[in-house]
Amino acid sequence: MVRKAPQFSPEDAIRLAGEIYGLEATAVELPSERDQNFRLRDSAGAQFVLKISNPEEALEVLDLQNKAVKFLAASDTGLEWPRVVPTRSGNEIVPIGSEGGPAYFIRLLTWVEGRCLGYVRPHGHELLASLGRGLAATDAALAGFSHHAAHRTLYWDVRNAALARRHLGLLSASQRAMVEPFFDAWEKIDWRTLPANVIHGDANDYNILVDDTGVKVTSILDFGDMVHTATVCDLAIALAYVMLDKQDPIAAAAEVVAAYHQRRPLAGPEVDALYTLTATRLAMSVCYCAWQTIQDPHNEYLAISNRPAWALLERLDAMPADWPREVFRRACGATGARAAGDLLATRRRHLGPSLSISYRQPLHIIRGWKQYLYDAGGRAYLDCVNNVAHVGHCHPRVVRAAAEQMALLNTNTRYLHEYLAEYVERLAAMLPEPLSVVYLVCSGSEANELALRLARAHTGHDGVIVVETAYHGNTNALIDISPYKFNGPGGRGRPPNVEVVSWQDSGGVQAAVGRLKAPTFFCESALSCAGQVILPPGYLRSAYEAVHAAGGVCVADEVQTGFGRAGSHFWMFETQDVVPDIVTLGKPIGNGHPLGAVITTPEIARSFANGMEYFNTYGGNPVSCAVGLAVLDVIRDEGLQQNARATGDYLMRGLAGLAQRHPSILDVRGLGLFLGFELPAAEEADALVNRMKDLGVLLSTDGPLHNVIKIKPPLVFSRVDADLLLDRLDQVLA
Ligand code: PMP
Repeated sequence: MVRKAPQFSPEDAIRLAGEIYGLEATAVELPSERDQNFRLRDSAGAQFVLKISNPEEALEVLDLQNKAVKFLAASDTGLEWPRVVPTRSGNEIVPIGSEGGPAYFIRLLTWVEGRCLGYVRPHGHELLASLGRGLAATDAALAGFSHHAAHRTLYWDVRNAALARRHLGLLSASQRAMVEPFFDAWEKIDWRTLPANVIHGDANDYNILVDDTGVKVTSILDFGDMVHTATVCDLAIALAYVMLDKQDPIAAAAEVVAAYHQRRPLAGPEVDALYTLTATRLAMSVCYCAWQTIQDPHNEYLAISNRPAWALLERLDAMPADWPREVFRRACGATGARAAGDLLATRRRHLGPSLSISYRQPLHIIRGWKQYLYDAGGRAYLDCVNNVAHVGHCHPRVVRAAAEQMALLNTNTRYLHEYLAEYVERLAAMLPEPLSVVYLVCSGSEANELALRLARAHTGHDGVIVVETAYHGNTNALIDISPYKFNGPGGRGRPPNVEVVSWQDSGGVQAAVGRLKAPTFFCESALSCAGQVILPPGYLRSAYEAVHAAGGVCVADEVQTGFGRAGSHFWMFETQDVVPDIVTLGKPIGNGHPLGAVITTPEIARSFANGMEYFNTYGGNPVSCAVGLAVLDVIRDEGLQQNARATGDYLMRGLAGLAQRHPSILDVRGLGLFLGFELPAAEEADALVNRMKDLGVLLSTDGPLHNVIKIKPPLVFSRVDADLLLDRLDQVLA
């Protein structure tokens, strides 16, 4: 049909308008896939659309279109519809012949004023809601309309996606991989559960008209794809176009869905099928386009929506497949889904008020995938700050390991178990000699708490040296060795057995050693809460020497810094060329599963074994060990340490470039994917973090003055992500 589209000239259209409708008019051709449309203007300024249909189009389908538009005009839709203009002899559809060629049918409609949605920017909340309402009103009205010609097999009907799927072979392998899952999901739709009626079937952004204000949809044009099918397909088709070129396609779609649902409530199965139908329609578009391009390589119209369609499919492909459907469910007020305001109020009432929440407008995150977080309203965020989701949020290998073991056995460590044995072997093998004895716990705090006990048991003294602004955990004993807390709001100040030293040079450690007996030196191998600080070269080496000379013990807190984040080394302490006496691990070790570990020497372990048992109910249970093993496997198999180095170096160079252009960046520092930059004060840092969130990038602040932006993303962070981060930072800093 596309190949047989009529080929009349504007002069032909002018002649036909005069002969058949008695109109003296000018004519301009409008784009069309398989018909021909001319915009006519008569001498009085009245405007019309002269429609010359494809020779293969059945008369009854044209009758369907005319009847439907008249029906809608008489219905309460709040939209404007064209009128059907009869010929001089009173006919609404007339055949015209061309010498020796095929016969065409011709119709005339009044022109509806407005701008195509495709030319209106931006598509704000009001406009998207107006589209949802208009479409819902149209669908609701059409429930009372029937026409035998609507019961046809139309290749654009999403119900007939199988017709498009036949062309999959024309796509490249990577393109096929992107669209095939949508066809697979489409195949599982139970069409009997979806209400059906005649739908418009082509609410694309060039068929939707918007008024002068740019916020109100006034009409939906072009009834050429009308068909009797599942009603929700009308919305799915509109959404496929609405999502094109949007920063947050699912959020934009959700706004249309919410407004649609208000006017024509969607049934549960309709909501559940909606995302699949939407994505399938896009998949159909690219399949047909591939096929039509072969038939007609010079037709520009074909390509109009193809490039953005592929760009969108790529973005949908990167999303967790179940998330858009959940967003749509929430847009329709799904049971169990609670509004952000309600969640915040409950939190205020029932959670301890000493717990803060991120961002001025808190986020309601419902899904994590790789280095992205996804909210309840359809927005995706690049996570540049969560170092717990080390191998990526919800990594399937970690999830599977946990789920499979959870289904088999989860108990304490007083039984033999392969995973326990394998895990402690693997951990010990990753640390230098003589670090070989492992204690498995459930958090960074538990790890440090135990490290403190081990050290004190070994030295027989309770003095501790810590670095300024350090944080080591949330227990009583750890608050007492965390200047970040005891010197901060609500803190009780420095206890007498604790010495605080500067990280600038190790002279402070040497002095402190003289004031304490056989002290324990507790230090992160790169400082997190102090503001992403890389210790000066040789700092730990001379500090450790001084502590060891006094009979003390050195603890490396690797809770934030371990497992390859440094890029150049697996453990951050290795960058300082030291071997600690005790190493504590947390956060990334379980990729979000509560897990921690302490690794020490046999000698210290013996000092601790004084008869009192150390038992930890959950530490080292088989599920935790399965998770810990999976994390180690993924870091190795996906080369994440190497990626931390390459991407970290790249990002560091980019940040240094930003610092040259933006004087508000006072310092850039870090190693691997443990990075930070300093702004003049907390106000700037806070403003930047909140603005970046609005642009879809999550960051947070740290440092004693809260003026340091910290960057410590999941290690799957890519160059593309780095570019996005740098671009958004550039915008906000400018
Ligand atoms: N050590 C350091 C360096 C930390 O940053 C943290 C947590 N922020 C902890 C220990 C305590 O870990 P958790 O919150 O898992 O108890």
